[in-house]
Amino acid sequence: MAVSLTWLYVFTREFRQKYPIPGFFLYQSLKLPFIFLILVIAYSYYLYVYVLCYTVLWTTWNRNWGAFLILAQLIIYLFVFHLLLFMFLWCLVQVMRTPTARVPKEYYVDEETGRKLDELKLNKEQTSKVEFPEWLEKRRAILEAFAASRGLNFAEIEEDTNCLRYCYVCRLIKPDRCHHCRACGYCVLRYDHHCPYIYKCISYSNYKFFLLLLFYGAALAIWTISTEIQGLLYHFMHGALYLGIQLVVGLIFQLLGGIFVIDVIRFHVSLTNTNDTTCENDKVPYLRFEGASYDMGTAQNWKYLLGRRLWILPVSTRYKDDNGLHFKINIPNQVVTV
Ligand SMILES: [Zn+2]
Ligand SMILES: [Zn+2]
Repeated sequence: MAVSLTWLYVFTREFRQKYPIPGFFLYQSLKLPFIFLILVIAYSYYLYVYVLCYTVLWTTWNRNWGAFLILAQLIIYLFVFHLLLFMFLWCLVQVMRTPTARVPKEYYVDEETGRKLDELKLNKEQTSKVEFPEWLEKRRAILEAFAASRGLNFAEIEEDTNCLRYCYVCRLIKPDRCHHCRACGYCVLRYDHHCPYIYKCISYSNYKFFLLLLFYGAALAIWTISTEIQGLLYHFMHGALYLGIQLVVGLIFQLLGGIFVIDVIRFHVSLTNTNDTTCENDKVPYLRFEGASYDMGTAQNWKYLLGRRLWILPVSTRYKDDNGLHFKINIPNQVVTV
């Protein structure tokens, strides 16, 4: 998470626009981490089903038909492993196939407004409030007038200018919690981050699936590692070194993957507790109302994210009034939706 690959995404997108064929292959090469993930899952499946369940448990049961405990163990191992693997893959498919949440067209400014805003575009040093108050006033007025003409409401504004947040690339006023993803090249609703491992934006549309993917991934890693150790001991004790070494290699990958996923979960649990996104964790959103935040309290934050029923499944469980454009805001002594 800490390593930013944004420059690589931007370079790839621009390179692909200029040189479509080599650009296509460069773009595909960014999916290598995902292919590696699939290979580790396939290898883990072989280890679990063949090296642990077949060569250890099934063989032991075959030699000792009275050992019903071993048969029960075999059934439980296979059942839990396949259940967790199925849930993990289901979440992965949902994260990847859900379209990234984009901004509706009413937030895009018309040509005339865009041209006026372009004329007011100044570099960073020039945007000082003190030096250019008229410029700021003009910009603020154009944006507010456009928002009013479309009936658009916003709680978030730019901290340094107090203007509505405008994207010069997409030429739109950013809805609350929306940010421009440089990897995708467009603005994304409730933008969290662009995930390098699956090369996909994690946003309003797929954040719940992403969070469940982490949980099932961690559960799968913990279950697999803790049960495979039995197979490892068995093979080394019975002199089956080749199978034992295969398990050691698999366990190393699973352990590294498990530690990584648990670390990412820890971070996202802390974000969800306070209703923050990865992006907002880096730059705190600035709201029009004093002392306001999106934090509705831990229980409400989790409810908002996971929904009421079927929260455990990677299916949409959104509340009716949740559209990714307007969010409940906690202002001291009152709660409003802008
Ligand atoms: Zn944008
Ligand atoms: Zn993105």
